[in-house]
Amino acid sequence: MSNTEAHPAEVGCGARENGTPAAGVEILTAREVPLGGPRAMTVRRTLPQRARTLIGAWCFADHYGPDAVSESGGMNVPPHPHIGLQTVSWLFSGVIEHRDSLGSHAYVRPGEVNLMTGGRGISHSEVSTPDTTVLHGVQLWVALPAEHRDTAPDFQHHVPAPVALDGGEARVFLGSLAGDTSPVDTFTPLLGAEVTLAPGAAVTLDVDPGFEHGVLVDTGDVRVDGTAVRPAGLAYAAPERHTLALTNESSGTARALLLGGPPFDEELVMWWNFVGRTHDEVAAARTDWENESERFGRVEGYPGDRLPAPALPNATLSPRRNPAP
Ligand code: MN
Repeated sequence: MSNTEAHPAEVGCGARENGTPAAGVEILTAREVPLGGPRAMTVRRTLPQRARTLIGAWCFADHYGPDAVSESGGMNVPPHPHIGLQTVSWLFSGVIEHRDSLGSHAYVRPGEVNLMTGGRGISHSEVSTPDTTVLHGVQLWVALPAEHRDTAPDFQHHVPAPVALDGGEARVFLGSLAGDTSPVDTFTPLLGAEVTLAPGAAVTLDVDPGFEHGVLVDTGDVRVDGTAVRPAGLAYAAPERHTLALTNESSGTARALLLGGPPFDEELVMWWNFVGRTHDEVAAARTDWENESERFGRVEGYPGDRLPAPALPNATLSPRRNPAP
């Protein structure tokens, strides 16, 4: 997915101050962002935001749907570029057709993770398929650490087998949880899993105490270590936890995504679809895209024009510090 805000702000992220991790759970609420297009589908964005820009290396979280495609028009994101990140696509309903400049042509389906590494430069398009009636899922970005941010672009696909929990089920698409480990490569330790909880279920998950975690609630009345999280909300749990308790207080099945990773201590500048370290680096990527540089290759098979880059902001912003856990 592309950040299709007409005037995207430049967001500085990263380098938290060292501090004592908090015991509580912090709630991050979503803001609605139109994806663009004549019938603009909107997404609910919980990362980045002023209160918190990263959870581990997770630096972007868009949650959308369930969206009736007959009304919203679905997803149609023309070819656009990325650098310095990996995109993680995870669907609950519907199918998205992915094409990228590596020649990958893949379908993103519910329960199947697609992880695209932008590295030094990639471009891709994302379009919901004609037979998709309801589109529902998340688009997540992972910042690449400095030593790997110029890595070669790549595309990976994995279908995790569901793992039974006492009162639910997990699908581990990145990292390890509940005895399952994803084979998908990442450049920092990460956790990404879908967790479903039966009505009334209380599940205690063993987690890495070196990780901070985010719980993005899709459906249900979920509590995270006792704190209530509304659907589309993202609960942040600081490191130094050995377990994470999830309860479903609703009468239906609850569903959430569990994200995690060690605090990411590098300063970042995020603008549009780029994750860089400096304003100049991001500006150079924009110029390369506008000049149709070979850096971003070409997406074959998309019926339409590529996405033009928005204008850069007038101000040069320096990276902002992420609050301490
Ligand atoms: Mn994208």
